[in-house]
Amino acid sequence: MTLYFEFILNISLWRFCLDKIEANPLASLLFAVSLPALIFFGLFLLFNALVWPCVHKPILTVLILLSCAANYVMFQFGVFIDSDMMANLFQTSRREALDFVNPSALSWLALTGLAPSFLVMKSEVVFRPALRELRGRLVSALACLLGLGLIALTLYKEYAVFGRNNREVTRLINPTNFAYSAYRYFERQSLAKREFRRIDEEARLAPYEDGLFTVFVLIVGETARSMNFALNGYDRPTNPRLQGQDVISFRDVTASGTSTAISVPAMFSHLPRSRFSPKDSPHSENILDLLSNAGYEVIWLENDNGCKKVCERVRTRDMVAENNREYCDGTYCHDEVMSEPLDDILANVTGDTVIVLHTMGSHGPSYYKRYSGEFRFFQPTCDTSEIQNCGIEAIVNTYDNTIVYTDNVVDLAIESLKEHPNLESGLLYVSDHGESLGENGIYLHGLPFGIAPDEQIKVPMILWMSEAMKTHDHIDYECLKSRALVPYSHDYLFHSLAGLLEIDTRLYEADLDLFLPCRLVPLPKIDNKFGQQKMEDGNK
Ligand SMILES: [Zn+2]
Repeated sequence: MTLYFEFILNISLWRFCLDKIEANPLASLLFAVSLPALIFFGLFLLFNALVWPCVHKPILTVLILLSCAANYVMFQFGVFIDSDMMANLFQTSRREALDFVNPSALSWLALTGLAPSFLVMKSEVVFRPALRELRGRLVSALACLLGLGLIALTLYKEYAVFGRNNREVTRLINPTNFAYSAYRYFERQSLAKREFRRIDEEARLAPYEDGLFTVFVLIVGETARSMNFALNGYDRPTNPRLQGQDVISFRDVTASGTSTAISVPAMFSHLPRSRFSPKDSPHSENILDLLSNAGYEVIWLENDNGCKKVCERVRTRDMVAENNREYCDGTYCHDEVMSEPLDDILANVTGDTVIVLHTMGSHGPSYYKRYSGEFRFFQPTCDTSEIQNCGIEAIVNTYDNTIVYTDNVVDLAIESLKEHPNLESGLLYVSDHGESLGENGIYLHGLPFGIAPDEQIKVPMILWMSEAMKTHDHIDYECLKSRALVPYSHDYLFHSLAGLLEIDTRLYEADLDLFLPCRLVPLPKIDNKFGQQKMEDGNK
């Protein structure tokens, strides 16, 4: 059954893999040879768990028939089975379904679905006595796991890169593709019915009185790791521009996840990493909603792969869609593309404003695509997404160039803010997660948080403040500087921003406000009950 699934019911998978694999370099050849073994071990494990007396025939028949149908549409129409495909399937009318009934589909079904199902029904399967059967299963499962572990140990890099470059490949693997997609589809259906949660309807602005507009730029970095910043002690000059600015680089900051999908929503959430759930977050407000409800104009400039639902209720501009030819190639834009829109916004500020720049940063594995030619500072570089074919030195050079480019992007934003001394402005750059560049044979990111190395979870966080903000927000900047080595995390972001941007919310936790120890005058508070401003005693 394993062999039948592997080589007949998964031909779409093999067509795809053959197409993608370059068989030339030795590493890729090893990878190509190991792939069928990997799929074999995986499928064998699955059947090992599913095939039991009494139930094996119906289970196998259903799996064969469904896989046969999936195989047909994947092979003939080049589709990938995901939860959207499942939505199509479940919402298809009978008329649409009948369109699929044609001689080619019927003969495909008869040959690869009905015939083997018939054989399964007719054949006699002899099971061993219970204990021996169990022992046999256990031994073969262990053997499969050993095989899988061996492949993971020797070819981790190849699989990580191939998977990252061809994420859709798992949607071609029968029968797990449709089983998983159906699960995701029903899960999405049940989540869609969930009620949206306001987190604090009474949150409001409680500012010090100064008559200036507050403008805060939050730059969300992508895949930048702390240790490759010269500002944090890296021995290469990766921060040529920011080293000339009066910035504070917090050197020990831990991310809340190892992937964008978890880190970005977690950064904006009021919940600490330990209580944050990526499944709940789309149904609940975040700091941007609080700021927006309190009267801030919030603008999100998107240049990464989407804002992971945190910007859904604020004004958003999509840089890729706007396709500025100077910085974009139709698929990606260099992060400098956001400088012009930022300048526009700053020139037309009519109230307190928060601007989020969601950067492409150092997104891998195509590091070389993240910067323009003049930033090819460290050489030789790895100018391909197949980084498994590059030496570590070239990969690190290319990655470091992305950091130099990011240094430039952050610097440009600071320079833009400096041109408006009449604004009480500040800027915080913080990356979503880090990246492994071959340390201990690990590449890219996304390892489970508990076992992720520092390369993936220690992120840069850099602060700049205008003189107006330091003065009017009563911040002792030198005090903040002296705390640059204090361990912080993404958990601090919500509470620090709420404090700095003068939002009075019951969700605020003073322990997680990194500005608080360096605040010279206590924050003004509003007594929500009477809606009147009530200064704290120390502030009078
Ligand atoms: Zn990311």
